[in-house]
Amino acid sequence: MKKISLLGATGSIGIQTLDIIREHPGEFRLAAMSIGKNIELARKIIVEFQPELVSVQNYSDFDTLKAEFPHTNFTYGDEGIIEAAIYEKADILVNAVLGSVGLNPTLQAIECGKTIAIANKETLVTAGHLVMEAARRNYVSLLPVDSEHSAIFQSLQGEREKNIERLILTASGGSFRDRTRNELEQVTVEEALNHPNWSMGAKITIDSATMMNKGLEVIEAHWLFNLPYEKIDVLLHKESIIHSMVEFHDSSIIAQLGTPDMRVPIQYALTYPERIPLPSGHRLDLAKIGQLHFQEMDLSRFRCLHFAYEAGRAGGTMPTVLNAANETAVAAFLEGKIRFLQIEDLVEKALDNHQAINYPSLSTIQEVDKETRQYVQSLL
Ligand code: NDP
Ligand code: MG
Repeated sequence: MKKISLLGATGSIGIQTLDIIREHPGEFRLAAMSIGKNIELARKIIVEFQPELVSVQNYSDFDTLKAEFPHTNFTYGDEGIIEAAIYEKADILVNAVLGSVGLNPTLQAIECGKTIAIANKETLVTAGHLVMEAARRNYVSLLPVDSEHSAIFQSLQGEREKNIERLILTASGGSFRDRTRNELEQVTVEEALNHPNWSMGAKITIDSATMMNKGLEVIEAHWLFNLPYEKIDVLLHKESIIHSMVEFHDSSIIAQLGTPDMRVPIQYALTYPERIPLPSGHRLDLAKIGQLHFQEMDLSRFRCLHFAYEAGRAGGTMPTVLNAANETAVAAFLEGKIRFLQIEDLVEKALDNHQAINYPSLSTIQEVDKETRQYVQSLL
């Protein structure tokens, strides 16, 4: 029986993780969880899964839930989410919280030697050097949940890092794959939230439409698989059937295929190196699909992907700026304060405005993250 601590239990990845726990009561148990503000859903999760420890974002929600569930331990705020992350009775941490708030809990859990299933890509983007160094030092495994990185991880089983020629991350193209830049001027939040293949949280759906999601994933892959940016390519593949590939020196390419269902990579991270049946999973019927399509990525069309490569190569605090500017700009877009193409303009301005600091410490990263958010806010 694996006991799980789940950060971001009320989110898209969190709910799908709970589906897997529900379907395999003999394999998994929810020991601890954190949520943000959705206490309505938290109540239902507490009743059904009976976690021992629950962390909420706000004190008032902490007070409310504590009175309602006297047999559950509650905690709150920045300290609370760390408490849930390092909960001693949990065997594995699933970090499915959104944004760079996931960084400190990840680092603390690594220092406690927890195995981590990592969905929270912003953590690796903003502080990949600190996370990977801490993981090595503590012999901690970071198991990717992001579908592309899970595909690469699966393709690398039994292979040697030194034989890798390059990684090929596939990209669906998001909600606006077939639109011209002119057409992108006027697109609405509703249109942007309508992803053709994947059902995901709001922020990552917008990131998929701007292609920033793929940019963040390139940086995430750089850290997880310890490869330079020259060896990480992106390929448009509109069906989202091949979730990513690895090319080796002998020109062989190994790929992982499946229907677009995040429960597959989540479950693989939970059961690795074993595999168990996916509850009500759809088998991939290639004969029915018939054709798969591939297309080169146009970096002038998807400027956010270009910015991400640049920020990744520049290193230091640049990826922190990229991520913080993007989080702030996407939130503003979702609130109807800016137009779609202004997201990339704001990211570009924030990057231009920043002088990179090399090998930043955690406190420098947090400082730069905060300054960038303030800077982007001041431009709104
Ligand atoms: P959602 O927006 O659906 O969920 C985010 C979760 O984090 C919710 O539980 C939310 O709580 C919580 N949360 C948000 N802000 C805070 C905060 N400041 N403090 C504490 N908790 C907070 O996101 P997703 O599930 O889509 O994504 C989660 C992570 O997984 C992201 O890093 C994303 O990039 C990554 N990912 C997601 C994929 C997907 O298919 N969705 C695919 C691959 C990666 P509440 O709702 O209660 O406020
Ligand atoms: Mg992905």
